[in-house]
Amino acid sequence: MTISKLTKEYQAIADILNRLWPLKNNQQRVFARTMKIVEELGELSDELLTSMNIQRNSKIAKFSHQNVEDEFADVLGSLVLLAIELDIDIETVMKRKIAYTHKRLLNE
Ligand SMILES: [Mg+2]
Repeated sequence: MTISKLTKEYQAIADILNRLWPLKNNQQRVFARTMKIVEELGELSDELLTSMNIQRNSKIAKFSHQNVEDEFADVLGSLVLLAIELDIDIETVMKRKIAYTHKRLLNE
């Protein structure tokens, strides 16, 4: 899947979210999407702690690698939803950031 296709898929999800839970304005949607990233990062952290056997035994017993994958996908998806609200072209900014990172690392 390309970034463009991913963004299109999440635009459709954003449309549904905005219909089901309408917020007053873009600022409120940016706030809500940002809080969702924090929530999903917490869930990913929880799964990673479980994968490292540093959680309650009841959680460890239910562990599967797919849980880590699912929470990773939730984090990425919630980032795409924020990008949509911030009108960020993910492909453009990632190309710029990758070029910057390569340049910086080569000058270390
Ligand atoms: Mg989740």
